[in-house]
Amino acid sequence: MNYPDVWELSSIFKGGSTSSEFKQFVEETDGCLNELEGRLQSGLERIEELESLIVDTQQAMQRVREASAFVSCLTAQNVKDEKAALWQGKITVQSTALQTIWGMIDVELTLLSETEWEQLLVKKKMKEISFHLLERRESAKEKLPPAEEKLAAQLAIDGYHAWGKVYQQAVGRMSIPFVEDGQEKFLSAGQLQNRLHHVDRQVRKRAFHLSEKAWGEEAGLFAATLNHLAGFRIQLYKARGWTSVLKEPLEMNRMQDETLKMMWDTIKKNKQMLYPFMDRKATLLGIKKLAIYDVNAPLPLRHNQSIPYEHACELIISHFKRFSQKLAVFAEGALRDGWVEAENRSHKRPGGVCTTFPLSKQSRIFMTYDGSMSNVSTLAHELGHAFHAHCLKEKEPLSQRYAMNVAETASTFAEAIVADALVEEANTKEMKIALLENKISRAIAFFMNIHARFLFETRFYERRKEGMLSAEQLNDLMITAQQEAYGQQLSTYSPTFWASKLHFHITGVPFYNFPYTFGYLFSLGLYKKAQEVGSSYEKSYIALLEDTARMSVEELAKKHLDADLTKPDFWQEAINVVLADIDEFMALTKE
Ligand SMILES: [Zn+2]
Repeated sequence: MNYPDVWELSSIFKGGSTSSEFKQFVEETDGCLNELEGRLQSGLERIEELESLIVDTQQAMQRVREASAFVSCLTAQNVKDEKAALWQGKITVQSTALQTIWGMIDVELTLLSETEWEQLLVKKKMKEISFHLLERRESAKEKLPPAEEKLAAQLAIDGYHAWGKVYQQAVGRMSIPFVEDGQEKFLSAGQLQNRLHHVDRQVRKRAFHLSEKAWGEEAGLFAATLNHLAGFRIQLYKARGWTSVLKEPLEMNRMQDETLKMMWDTIKKNKQMLYPFMDRKATLLGIKKLAIYDVNAPLPLRHNQSIPYEHACELIISHFKRFSQKLAVFAEGALRDGWVEAENRSHKRPGGVCTTFPLSKQSRIFMTYDGSMSNVSTLAHELGHAFHAHCLKEKEPLSQRYAMNVAETASTFAEAIVADALVEEANTKEMKIALLENKISRAIAFFMNIHARFLFETRFYERRKEGMLSAEQLNDLMITAQQEAYGQQLSTYSPTFWASKLHFHITGVPFYNFPYTFGYLFSLGLYKKAQEVGSSYEKSYIALLEDTARMSVEELAKKHLDADLTKPDFWQEAINVVLADIDEFMALTKE
């Protein structure tokens, strides 16, 4: 085979989870971390000491990322690899130690006088990461004094993050009886959720009602965990003197409030253009109005076209080439050199993911390829992620760390190239309809489902400032948010969605919703621009990717797209890409 479907990991560390080479590497990282902590504790006297400390901490960060990438590949390829699971624990400890070191460095940055600060920034190695240093310094200044922040972080382990853990434990224990093929089975919450996308509407409907019932029965517990973790967050923000709950998530995503508002406003103005598609989908499913469990349901079409892996690789490379020679050459190399694990076998983790090894300057893609169209999209998507990492690999470590809202830029872009090519080349009308429906459904998810999450979360946090909310109040808040976000277009909503959606209970990332929609539209806007300019856009595209981790999104759009994200035009053009797909879908499904 030109393109192996089993990846190659031994060039990174020989011997899998029993690798002695890997063991030694991890032990050496322990040494680096201890040494860094020692240097910080003994006090820094000269600017040069701080500079070299930042350089070395970045290096330690790359080591932790390298090890973490290796372990995640091992656990993904075999979920039963217990040794790999143990390594995972070890790497988490190192990540925490590294975070503590960064925290101490941030304090050092705030203690610098303006003259010392200027002196630091002109140092050769600091210039390229000046954006990050400034960001860290400003953010540290807005927090409580170091001793208080440290205490808050310690209390958070049992008083904040623990609520997220309790939630996950309780979800893990859920077991819901479900009759399938004449047999009663006990399903996990996740397995039941998969049934919500079943091709048979009766199965979806039954799964939905059982799911609402199961989450409803646990709602008291989940209302408590959600209220407590939100309460902790609000108290900490209050102590820091922060008034908006969006302050932290916006800063993490390096974006302004005006940008976020303009994005949602433009989406809202366009929502009614999605309604005819939803009505048509309902008709194709043989129902009057979509229920929430129909929105993502597959259309009952006959198009069981299977694409062999080798063919998928060739198809992706050839379509990438039409847009960018560099992207095509990169993808060809990655596919040929065993960067992709695609074999369909047991004990593999579900889903697709791209992992980057910053020291080896390579990536690995994990997925299970079964020949479906959506698998081809996933492969293109993950290759896009790998290309993004490839464009950043020579940058200073901190300049490789982009925020969540631009993390999907290259992947969504690569996916769009292939998705359009597939629609163009589809040899039956049914195939074409299925592919378009798939694309539009993604947009519906970003414009409606994610919008509902955002509306719910902002309103919940506002109300929570006044006191705890009951499960019933949370249900009401969720239904109102969904009705608004879906423009009253559905026949049934999911009141317990606040309990069943993990994202509301993740403590590491607040407001884990709007960055998805931002990333999707940002990438579509970029794709539109690339289509207009043609293959000569390659250079600008790569330049944009190289800057993703060292400026705000507003600056990024201004510099590379000549766009103002606080104005509607950019967003409208991105949405127009979806509207064009809807027009095509409506024309094809007329009779
Ligand atoms: Zn992705």
